[in-house]
Amino acid sequence: MPLHVSQHPLVAHKLAILRDKTTEPKKFRELVRELTWLLGYEAMADLATRPEPIETPLEPMTAARLEPRVGLIPILRAGLGMVDAMLELLPTAEVWHIGLYRDERTLKPVEYYNKLPDAATVQVCLVLDPMLATGGSAAATIDILKHWGAARVKQVSLIAAPEGVATLTTAHPDVDVHVAALDVRLNERGYIVPGLGDAGDRQFGTFAGPASEPGHGPDDETAEVVRRLQRDLEG
Ligand code: URA
Repeated sequence: MPLHVSQHPLVAHKLAILRDKTTEPKKFRELVRELTWLLGYEAMADLATRPEPIETPLEPMTAARLEPRVGLIPILRAGLGMVDAMLELLPTAEVWHIGLYRDERTLKPVEYYNKLPDAATVQVCLVLDPMLATGGSAAATIDILKHWGAARVKQVSLIAAPEGVATLTTAHPDVDVHVAALDVRLNERGYIVPGLGDAGDRQFGTFAGPASEPGHGPDDETAEVVRRLQRDLEG
């Protein structure tokens, strides 16, 4: 089953405070960090280990060391707030940035930043995005990572919409999706409902954000994408 919704009471508690509209950016950033830590711990529970002989002060023993090299791929910009927590868990992880925007005409994600080297330097990639909304950016990012040569990809998000999960699991059925909550739906502006609003604005205090963000300015294209995703979901 590729979708894993955390059942941990600490996750539920912290998510409640994160969603609350009165939670200010400083507290919001702390909670994103703490939730990422908890979800990252769950998402990495099945990573392979290799035996390694070590010596404790008392005697030699065979210990376990993490086998794969792990890459963190934050989806810009809101995914940036999840990087530090993951690096606390896994200080040797590599952080690779991929920038995508949605073309207004074709509605397809377009890559504008990608400095991945020719061959994959990691075996496992964790794609970080607090909100798995339409799933378009996540699916496109995972396409890029698979072509790069990543053997395994996992998506870590705080909240997912059913539409985004459907997009992602249809495009990439092998990708595990780890979330703190699966919400009800997307609204016509591409926001997850009940959600928490704009995760980028709430982290970075940019409440008069650019027109490209969901909820800012005329957004007929977003409404059409949402309607199409909801039709697909109803089947
Ligand atoms: N991005 C956000 O920040 N929030 C949403 O609800 C959807 C996309």
